[in-house]
Amino acid sequence: MARPMWIAKALSLFPEMFPGPLGESLAGKALRDGVWELSAVDIRRFAKDRHRTVDDAPFGGGAGMVMKPDVLSAAIEAVAVPGVPKMLLSPRGTPFSQARARQLAAGPGVLLVCGRFEGVDERVIEAHALEEVSVGDFVLSGGEIAAMTVLDCCVRLLPGVMGEPASASEESFEDGLLEYPHYTRPASWTGPDGIDRQVPEILVSGHHGKVAEWRMKRREEITRRRRPDLWARRRTATGTEEK
Ligand code: SAH
Repeated sequence: MARPMWIAKALSLFPEMFPGPLGESLAGKALRDGVWELSAVDIRRFAKDRHRTVDDAPFGGGAGMVMKPDVLSAAIEAVAVPGVPKMLLSPRGTPFSQARARQLAAGPGVLLVCGRFEGVDERVIEAHALEEVSVGDFVLSGGEIAAMTVLDCCVRLLPGVMGEPASASEESFEDGLLEYPHYTRPASWTGPDGIDRQVPEILVSGHHGKVAEWRMKRREEITRRRRPDLWARRRTATGTEEK
């Protein structure tokens, strides 16, 4: 029996931003092949007044506008499906991770609520038990690009989307380490700085065991140097605390 399609829904004030970059390359092909489906729904459709108002001034004062709870809630109710996770993109959310992407990809799909302005009325988050997710410690102007980021991560993990299914297992974050450096032809290359750079000898040795060992060493080095936070977590997890 065919696997059921992975269903993504995005609620946005700018639905025409979708699929955007997700219509290209791997994700776009998978979309056309029916591996996943994406519907972007305009939150403004659920506005109740003549002016199609979706936002209002914050209680307590302050800058900016807040997305109205009644309108956003009606939109969520119209598209939510029981059993499908409901997320709100938000800079104060739980950092999105490769592990969460794997969980989502293994499930039926996701509903992504894209904020705009200063954000959304807190009561909608509570009432719908929205999972707040952040894509990084910076502030975007809206949730759409963050939602696309989440979708891109999930879709490439769906069965049949990536050419080489094994290629995910050694990627950054999959086992708490960053990736090793890559090289391809030509084996000797002169850059714009005039320096001739060779491919590391070991990679052309044909010795698979040595190559694997070299790659693991590079992964450890790079992780330790660039991401001491990941490195510390890994040391704790593997019980090899540094002296
Ligand atoms: N006033 C908010 C920022 C609002 S930005 C604050 O100070 O935290 C407007 C919208 O962009 C947010 O509602 C959210 O949906 C989206 N957004 C901005 N940065 C994001 C991030 N790092 N991760 C996920 N969504 C983000």
